[in-house]
Amino acid sequence: MVIDSHCHLDDRQFDADRDAAIDRALAAGVETMLAIGTGGGPPDLEAGVRLADAHAHIYASVGIHPHEAVKAGEGDFARLRELLSHPKVLAIGEIGLDYHYDFSPREVQRAVFIRQLQIAREAGKPIIIHTREAWDDTLEILAHKWEPHPGGIMHCFSGGPEEAERVLEMGFFVSFAGIVTFPRAVAVQEAARCVPLDRLLAETDAPYLAPVPHRGKRNEPAFLVETVRKLATLRGESFEQAAAATSDNFRRLLQLPRSNYNG
Ligand SMILES: [Zn+2]
Ligand SMILES: [Zn+2]
Repeated sequence: MVIDSHCHLDDRQFDADRDAAIDRALAAGVETMLAIGTGGGPPDLEAGVRLADAHAHIYASVGIHPHEAVKAGEGDFARLRELLSHPKVLAIGEIGLDYHYDFSPREVQRAVFIRQLQIAREAGKPIIIHTREAWDDTLEILAHKWEPHPGGIMHCFSGGPEEAERVLEMGFFVSFAGIVTFPRAVAVQEAARCVPLDRLLAETDAPYLAPVPHRGKRNEPAFLVETVRKLATLRGESFEQAAAATSDNFRRLLQLPRSNYNG
């Protein structure tokens, strides 16, 4: 059994077969999925919550993605706070900085990121970080605005061993997506070898970045087993060890007791 720590099941690429994709995930041994709730951005903050309400095996996050930071208003932050008391909302995310696309002005991205870190801290909820071409600003903001913190995930980790070291020092869990299965992703693979077993997570980030041998297709949570298999091979562990560790880590960080889900 494995846990997909990050998927966008609300994406319109699943409109034709969402329930079938969820069934395929369960059949493949993906026992729990975290539906990332950023959706199309504010004012709709409930994309993940709707899925969690409808499916026993799905939990949700809520948050404003850096791409949509420019759409955020005061009311959205208040609504985020309210949604955090929903019993199936486990985290705030994905939040962070994306300087690759720059869909929102950088200073707005930073302000919205900081605001959500404050909300997470007040609520005692873990955070899920998206960072792209923005390592220095991301880590600097976290270092100054996030202490003391309730824990967090570096999602779709795309750095090398040096970046892994820095986020591990800050107490983060490191979540690997399909990139780690790509033959040329040597630095990410090296990072995957360095992360201690008790800080390792796995995700699909579906519908994006399908792992080998599904590369190029729409990704879906069922494909998570390929990423976990690759992590195990890289690290010299069995599939079962990597699966158990990534699942246990998810439950521990996101405070998901075994009794809390209908297996
Ligand atoms: Zn992301
Ligand atoms: Zn994502």
